[in-house]
Amino acid sequence: SNQEAENKIKPLDHGSVHRISSGQVVVDLQTAVKELVENSLDAGSTSIEARFKEHGVVSFEVVDNGSGIAPEDYDAIALKHHTSKLSSFSDLDSVSTFGFRGEALSSLCALAESVTVTTATAAEAPMGTVLEFDSAGRLVNRKGKVARQRGTTVTVSGLFKSLPVRRRELERNAKREFGKALALLSAYALIPCAQENKGVRLTVSHHTAGGKKSVQMRTDGTPSTRASISALWGPKTLENLIDLDIIFNVETERAVLRRRGIVDGDTHANEVRVRGQISKFAVGCGRGGTDRQFFFVNGRPCSPTKVQKAFNEVYRTFNANQAPFIVADFILPTDSMDVNVSPDKRTILLHSEKNLIEALKVALEAEFASSRATYDITPSG
Ligand code: ADP
Ligand code: MG
Repeated sequence: SNQEAENKIKPLDHGSVHRISSGQVVVDLQTAVKELVENSLDAGSTSIEARFKEHGVVSFEVVDNGSGIAPEDYDAIALKHHTSKLSSFSDLDSVSTFGFRGEALSSLCALAESVTVTTATAAEAPMGTVLEFDSAGRLVNRKGKVARQRGTTVTVSGLFKSLPVRRRELERNAKREFGKALALLSAYALIPCAQENKGVRLTVSHHTAGGKKSVQMRTDGTPSTRASISALWGPKTLENLIDLDIIFNVETERAVLRRRGIVDGDTHANEVRVRGQISKFAVGCGRGGTDRQFFFVNGRPCSPTKVQKAFNEVYRTFNANQAPFIVADFILPTDSMDVNVSPDKRTILLHSEKNLIEALKVALEAEFASSRATYDITPSG
């Protein structure tokens, strides 16, 4: 017949598209909780509690004392790409909040059995409003008049109910997934201190189905990295750590081209400062254990594989048997980093990374050599 052949290329329906992209934003339990804690930090909270029911498999919630959400914004809270933090693409160069994509709550709505937000701004406190959303992030239920101090509570039940394979993985590996969430939360417990602004009290608790509560970690809100390390791992940990504070220049690629006469115009080297704590050489932690290494770029927790490798390589030349405990915050111009690389925002693109790593290694070698003279009587290796 003359009937045209059926198109093979067709658009996916909206619901499927939403679920597919949401699965990249919220990869696992730890990224889900991290998104909620980031929202609490962005809202200026000074006290945040993350609660897990049955390791987060049944539900988890994050309670904060931040700004709260104003009634006129209720409808947009969980809509995809709706955010109060960024209004245009050009703002991305100077973004200082953890969130900017407006995808976390909409993704959680698409992936979980239910998402509930209880919130009050200063104007509504001590009365809050309970908000419920459907899987498309639409506000479907609104109950006023619950007791609530200023701040927000987001409760997520039945994570991954709409992605059966991932749900089964979560149920089967509940304790391991919970452990990963705790590890990531300890990085968040260390951040505000890295930024040296106000301290944040972070509490993480576990609740059994029978209602038994146990506190897993708690910081007291003192704005110092050492105080948080002590709160998380005990005061003895501090005895084995020294302050890390180095500054070095990174020649940008543009500056290299300028030096070679390929481009002209103004170029400058970027100054990078790295602050934090690192193990003394005689007392690294364990045999090559790298699970206590925390990296931040401008106070943002991330996993910069090459930077981590550089630290461990240089440390190994001073202590061949152990890996160091590391808390290191890289402070650099916001326009020389790009946080919009992966939907979960864990990967950060650093401008001129190769030059940065080289300069970092040189600076670390010098720093370690001088601190060995100060701290360690018996160098190993
Ligand atoms: P993003 O953080 O990228 O803006 P989210 O989906 O995480 O996107 O959050 C959407 C919006 O909801 C935020 O921009 C913010 O205005 C509001 N919001 C979410 N969580 C909180 C919170 N804990 N306190 C105050 N406002 C919040
Ligand atoms: Mg967010």
